[in-house]
Amino acid sequence: MLDKKKFYINGKWVNPINQNSFDVINPSTEEICAVISLGSSADTNLAVKSAKQSFETWKDTAKDQRIQLLEKLLEIYNSRWDEMTNAISTELGCPKDWCSANQTSSGASHIEDFIKRLKEFNFEPGFGKDSVNHIIYEPIGVCGLITPWNWPINQIALKVIPALATGCTMVLKPSEIAPLSGMLFAEMIHEAGFPAGVFNLVNGDGLGVGTDLSKHPDVDMVSFTGSTRAGKLITKNAAESIKRVCLELGGKGGNIVFADSYPDAVRDGIRNVMSNSGQSCDAPTRMLVEKSIYNRAIKEAADEANKIKVDLASKSGEHIGPVISKVQFDKIQSLIRSGIQEGATLVAGGPDKPEDFKKGYFIKPTVFTDVKNSMRVAKEEIFGPVLSIIPFENEEEAIKITNDTEYGLGNYLQTEDKEKAKRVSKKLRAGIIYVNNKPADSGTPFGGYRQSGNGREGGTWGLHEYLEVKTITEWNK
Ligand code: NAD
Repeated sequence: MLDKKKFYINGKWVNPINQNSFDVINPSTEEICAVISLGSSADTNLAVKSAKQSFETWKDTAKDQRIQLLEKLLEIYNSRWDEMTNAISTELGCPKDWCSANQTSSGASHIEDFIKRLKEFNFEPGFGKDSVNHIIYEPIGVCGLITPWNWPINQIALKVIPALATGCTMVLKPSEIAPLSGMLFAEMIHEAGFPAGVFNLVNGDGLGVGTDLSKHPDVDMVSFTGSTRAGKLITKNAAESIKRVCLELGGKGGNIVFADSYPDAVRDGIRNVMSNSGQSCDAPTRMLVEKSIYNRAIKEAADEANKIKVDLASKSGEHIGPVISKVQFDKIQSLIRSGIQEGATLVAGGPDKPEDFKKGYFIKPTVFTDVKNSMRVAKEEIFGPVLSIIPFENEEEAIKITNDTEYGLGNYLQTEDKEKAKRVSKKLRAGIIYVNNKPADSGTPFGGYRQSGNGREGGTWGLHEYLEVKTITEWNK
C-alpha cells in the first residue's frame, strides 16, 4: 500500500495541516492500494497563497522559457511512461495495454500539441495597421483546476499544460478516488524544474478543497471537468468572487446509424460505448438505428457485446476492466434494473456481476433495444458499459431524438452519403460530431453545448481559456 499523504505546495512535498486520511481503492480487487490525505481550508489557502506569490514573476516569463520547461516535462513524461500506466491502471482499473495506448498516450499528445500551439501563439496580435490601438493577451492569474477520475491524466494535461503555457499559476485538485496519476504528474513537473509555487497539488473531496477553490477570492478562474451536478455547485460557489468558470461536464451522446452506413458501423458503435468500461463523457450511449436495418443492427450489437471480455486490469490482452467504485457499480446496477422495469428489451448482459467475479466492480457489457428516449437509460448518464438502442423512421426524427437531451457533448453519425452527413452534423446540438467514427485530431477543441458545459479545451482554444484580452488605445503613434 502506497503512502501518498503529502501535498505538493510551493515546490515541496509537505504534510497536511490537519491529518484526514482517505483510502484509495483498486477497483479490480477492492483492496486499498494507497492512502492519501483530504485537505482542509488551511491547506488550500497555503497552496493558493503560493500560487499567488509565484504569479508575480511567472506571468512575465518569456514564452521560450516556458516552451523549454514544457519540452523537458514531455521528455520526463515519456521516460516515466510505464509508471504512469501503472498508476492509472491501478486507480481506475483499466487494462494495462489499453491504458498505455489510450490513457497514458493522451497525456503525452496533449503536452506535445500545446507546445506546438504555444510556439505559434502570438500574445501581442495588435489591432490591424489602420489603428494605433493594440491588443494583447495576458494570463488570467491563479487557477483552481478540478479533475475527474475517468480519463485522469487526459483531463489534468488539458488544464495544467495550457495554464503553464500561458503564464498562469495553479492549484490542482485531482479526483480523490483516482489521485495517483496526478501525484505522479506533480513529481514530473518538479523534476522538469518549474519554479516553486507555479504548480501546486492539494488532494481533497468536492465539499472540502473543491468548494474552497471555487469560493476562494484569490483564485481568478476555476476549470472543472466532472459531473453536471458538481458543475452547478461550483458555478454558484464561484459567483461571489465573479471568477471565470470553465466547465466540461457530462454527456449522453446519440449515434445515428443510417441504413447506408459503412458495414462495421454498429460493431464500432458498441466498441466505442464499452471501451474504458463505458466511463467516457462522449461515449455514444444512445444508438439510433434506421428502422429498415433495425433487426440486423440488434443482432450485430448483441453479438459484439457478447464478444467483449471483462477481466482484471493486470491481465494483458483485449478486454475491459471494472468500473471505478462501489458507488458507480451500484448506480449502474440500479439503472440497468430501471431499463428492465420500464420495458426495454435486454439483448446482452444485464444486472449483477459476471459469474467469474466475486471481487471487483465488474459489469456485464449490456445492450437494451426498443428503448424510448423518455426512459431513464436513455436520459441519464449511466457511465458504465450500457447501450440503449432506439429505432427511428427518418432523418428528421433521428435529429429530433438526438437533440432531445439536456446534454450536448459528443454526437455520432454513420452514413456513406457525404451531403447527408454535413446536413445532419449542422443540425445536431453538440460540441463534437464524430462522422463515421473518425477521431478528432490533436489540437481540435473539445467541449459541450447546454448542460455539457461552456468551455473548449485543447489546441489554441485551450490556451484562450487561460487568457485575458487587453486593449491599449495608443501603442504606435
Ligand atoms: P464529479 O463531479 O463527482 O467529480 C469531479 C471532480 O470534482 C472531483 O475531483 C471531485 O472531487 C470534484 N467535486 C465534486 N463535487 C464538487 C463540488 N461541489 N465542488 C467542487 N468540486 C467538486 O465527477 P466524476 O464522477 O469524478 O467524473 C465523472 C463525470 O465527469 C461524468 O459526468 C463525465 O461525463 C464527466 N466528464 C466530462 C468530461 C468533459 O470533457 N466534458 C470529461 C471527462 C469526464
